[in-house]
Amino acid sequence: MREPESSAAHPAARSATLPAPRAEAVVDLDALRANVRTLRERVGPAQVMTVVKADAYGHGMLPCARAALSAGVRWLGTATPEEALALRAAGIGPDRARVLCWLWTPGGPWAEAVAADVDVSVSGRWALDELLAAVRAVGRPARVHLKADTGLGRNGCQPHDWPELTAAARAAEAEGLIRVVGVWSHFAAADEPGHPSIEAQSTAFREALETAGRAGLRPEVRHIANSAGALTLPGARYDLVRTGIASYGLSPAPELGSPADLGLRPVMTLQAAVALVKRVPGGHGVSYGHTYVTPGETTLALIPLGYADGIPRHAGNAGPVQLAGKWRTVAGRVAMDQFVVDLGGDHAEVGDRAVLFGPGTDGEPTAEDWARAAGTIGYEIVTRIGARVPRRHLHAEPEEAGTRDPDGE
Ligand SMILES: *Cc1c(COP(=O)(O)O)cnc(C)c1O
Repeated sequence: MREPESSAAHPAARSATLPAPRAEAVVDLDALRANVRTLRERVGPAQVMTVVKADAYGHGMLPCARAALSAGVRWLGTATPEEALALRAAGIGPDRARVLCWLWTPGGPWAEAVAADVDVSVSGRWALDELLAAVRAVGRPARVHLKADTGLGRNGCQPHDWPELTAAARAAEAEGLIRVVGVWSHFAAADEPGHPSIEAQSTAFREALETAGRAGLRPEVRHIANSAGALTLPGARYDLVRTGIASYGLSPAPELGSPADLGLRPVMTLQAAVALVKRVPGGHGVSYGHTYVTPGETTLALIPLGYADGIPRHAGNAGPVQLAGKWRTVAGRVAMDQFVVDLGGDHAEVGDRAVLFGPGTDGEPTAEDWARAAGTIGYEIVTRIGARVPRRHLHAEPEEAGTRDPDGE
């Protein structure tokens, strides 16, 4: 409590300065730093790129990026150029981090990216042509990572177009317009050990590197591994791995082991204050559609989080919540802003803390438990937590603090 007593006694002043959060996502940056260090040790001498796209998988991009840098990474990765430019605009300069962004569309901010010293990915001729026009306009060379589609079938250049793309990139390099610093690709099923695509993509990547070498390209970093690849495929680490989910302390897939098995600590805890507790008779329908009906007289607790906050509607009658010392289950449908749990014969107080998920070390459910309940993956559970839920960053260094918690913790 930093409030003087006089203002704390004044309800308006109190609520203006000490809002009791309806709900919050607590983000433990010490855990993130520990995960990043663990990954660096595991994959060395390969370098680690911490992937901070999608607001750092829902954890808050800037505080997480800064925490990763303080744990020694020198590469950050984003999907969109706007995300990369936001890192630079926040003061994460080229002296501190190389930043790569890979999801471009025609008319994208190529010139801004080049001017901000952001590494850009090129998957095809149209992108190279737009980049070269921007380079001529800005008057400084661009750093490029050429992306090969080695079998994912998503972004990246198909093998039949690769010789032409690498040759064109080499010609632009010889003119001093670009420097091809990376050749890279992405796995389709690195989280399924033994999946036949892994060997096929590894072979295709070696061939793509050979073709690039024959074109005269000498990239400083070759990279293909995401978290699952970095953890399970030592031969796929090359010079750099791009780790997202493992940095946030989640396992890429339950089959690869729990976070603890992998030496990782989940970073996000999602909790809410109980908004209402009430006794209801047996046979009482709960929430829209009455998909839950109380089996007997019981106590219900209202949790003020809903699908607008990213709680999956698919978790109706399934999602777990730790409250009053036990796991409870969502009773009925998840609504836009709230859902209900049935406490049975137990009691809770209004304002009590309900934990939807966290590291699991205090017996609370984990993001993986929610993923199972909702038929999805842990990635989606954390990433979809909505903008209405404040993030509170623990153990931020002064400059890592998020805008919503300028005092850090
Ligand atoms: C999101 C992403 C990653 C990170 O994947 P994780 O499985 O979270 O480690 C790496 N590379 C690319 C191209 C991505 O889009």
